Amino acid sequence: MLNVLNPATGETIAEVPVSTPEDVDRAVAAARAAFGGWSTVTPYERQQALLKLADAVEQHSDELAELEARNAGKPVHAMKADEMPVCVDNLRFFAGAARCLEGKSAGEYMTGRTSFIRREAVGVVAQITPWNYPLMMAIWKIGPALATGNTIVLKPAETTPLSTLRLVELANEILPPGVLNVVTGAGEVGQRMVTHPDVDMVSLTGSVNTGKWIAKAAADTLKRVHLELGGKAPVVVFDDADLDALAETVTGAAYYNAGQDCTAATRVLASDRMHDDVVEALAEHARTFKLGDTFDPETTLGPVNSARQLGNITGFLDRRPDHARIVTGGRRPDSPGFFLEPTIVDGLRQDDEMVQKEIFGPVIAVQRFDDEAKAIEWANGTPYGLAGSVWTRDVGRALRVANAMRFGCVWINDHLPFVSEMPHGGFKQSGYGKDLSMYGVEDYTVVKHVMASLS
Ligand code: ADP
Repeated sequence: MLNVLNPATGETIAEVPVSTPEDVDRAVAAARAAFGGWSTVTPYERQQALLKLADAVEQHSDELAELEARNAGKPVHAMKADEMPVCVDNLRFFAGAARCLEGKSAGEYMTGRTSFIRREAVGVVAQITPWNYPLMMAIWKIGPALATGNTIVLKPAETTPLSTLRLVELANEILPPGVLNVVTGAGEVGQRMVTHPDVDMVSLTGSVNTGKWIAKAAADTLKRVHLELGGKAPVVVFDDADLDALAETVTGAAYYNAGQDCTAATRVLASDRMHDDVVEALAEHARTFKLGDTFDPETTLGPVNSARQLGNITGFLDRRPDHARIVTGGRRPDSPGFFLEPTIVDGLRQDDEMVQKEIFGPVIAVQRFDDEAKAIEWANGTPYGLAGSVWTRDVGRALRVANAMRFGCVWINDHLPFVSEMPHGGFKQSGYGKDLSMYGVEDYTVVKHVMASLS
């Protein structure tokens, strides 16, 4: 059994079975059996199913938000106001996308023969989600896969299965049997999915190490692999940045979801001239965050997901080099649950692990740079490439730096917002494959060329 906790209290709130290897086999067999039917219904029918699912999620919004808040330690009002409307909108976007697939126009590219393109479903897709946005990541995965006619075996993270189990229950009142299956458990269950000979594609949102393991394991059967892995988003601040907007946005984007976001604004590179002001403004905003009961409307910063994750984060702080200075935070409040104060560490250097590695907690690491070329070199100088931002009022500089940043998403004078229509996904070791947008939807299709002789 999986012992499922509320990270805000450390108390057990549910027990969930661990799927056996036979359970995984049965789920894959059910998905395979359903594939022929689901992949050949009209896009309209798949759209209608996704629209109904969006309605069901909207109708059960409070219930899902409360479940997620309890299981993932999120302030419930933020879950209701921010994440639930996005989840519903994502599903409606994918519903529309089901009917908008594109390809090259049919034509006679060789005399006497007509060619056309079909976009077909990949097949049975194993989808593995993380614990930071359990419901939203499940929706980002099932939406495009269902829209394009794939069938699914979905596994939520072992610490946060509850909202996914409820989502699948709601979906299975709408979808034909076998189209969407769920299994539960930790990495071993995921491994069984990834190595299963009858799975055609694996999609993971998770850590770089898990992504590498999956890419290697999937090579044996040449499964298609879709990976959204970690990030270490740089926030590059030039002399002419709007300090108030920066401090408010960056602390919001660093401490949202307790910093457990692969695009979190947790690495600030400030120009020499701005550095002290930036640190002071960030610290002032950081101190306004309120930790506490995740069902209290005043709470703006929840706990991190688990004792293990808290240990990972405090490990970074304990190992900080002598030249680094904790400006604010760094302590655990005297309360149960896995809380950490909003923290800022200044004086970091490019090679420090707090700059190079993903901390995945409410900790902003600050560096200073002297010129634009150095800022770009350092911003790009980690193994990650998911997202970053540049802050300046000089249009030319903003575009120059955005163009030079090797990241899947670059914001200018902003950080964190995303929309269903635009892709989310990495460069470098942040993985490959896109979530959201038509690019994400196309990732769940295979292009087929059909050529007919006209004689
Ligand atoms: P973290 O280390 O932040 O928990 P993981 O990458 O380990 O991130 O977890 C993300 C998801 O990947 C979870 O659902 C987890 O159970 C799953 N997972 C972990 N290891 C493996 C693996 N070797 N194969 C497949 N899935 C895995």
